[in-house]
Amino acid sequence: MKYYILFGPPGAGKGTQATAMKENYNLRHVSTGELLRNEIAAGTELGLKAKALIDAGALVPDEVVEGMIESLFNSVKDVNGFLLDGFPRTIAQAEALDAMLAKRGEEVTAVVSIMIPDQMIMERIKHRAAIEGRADDANEDTINNRIKTYHDKTEPLVEYYKKAGKYNEADGIGTIEEVRSRIFGIMDKF
Ligand code: ATP
Ligand code: MG
Repeated sequence: MKYYILFGPPGAGKGTQATAMKENYNLRHVSTGELLRNEIAAGTELGLKAKALIDAGALVPDEVVEGMIESLFNSVKDVNGFLLDGFPRTIAQAEALDAMLAKRGEEVTAVVSIMIPDQMIMERIKHRAAIEGRADDANEDTINNRIKTYHDKTEPLVEYYKKAGKYNEADGIGTIEEVRSRIFGIMDKF
């Protein structure tokens, strides 16, 4: 199995690009953000707890998302691999992922990082808010907190995966098709 990590700041276009990537490479797309939004929509206890954190632009506890990921690794079979979108988001999650994969005799195949500058994050999320209606896209304070959370907790993963020799970066500026072909150029190497 291949284990790709789709990395990038909020609003980088991960969800958009993931659709093309999963189809082209026969991967199971796993978005932890989407899984959590499904829990919220279903009104589960987990969803209720997650909603307050997500609406504040904070992260949900590592164990929660780690559990979601592991149960998918255990149940999904008929694909060439996984496309992890929004996970890992902390060094602790990256270490947990490495441990989960090591137990299965597997490892992270590659990180594909979509990079956009901070000024673009706000623009893109505000544009998306009108289309998708996500609660955490609707409020400027929430977005600013997500950007801060990204820099504080998630960005250190760039160094983590550079050290592991798994980090690949695609410029996220340009049309959807332009960014897609940069990403496919990276994916085709693995
Ligand atoms: P985009 O949809 O553009 O990728 P995003 O990365 O901010 O933007 P999601 O990945 O959909 O959004 O995540 C939404 C929220 O869900 C996050 O702000 C966070 O609160 C929570 N979340 C998602 N994944 C994780 C994770 N791995 N660890 C902790 N919290 C998470
Ligand atoms: Mg997303």
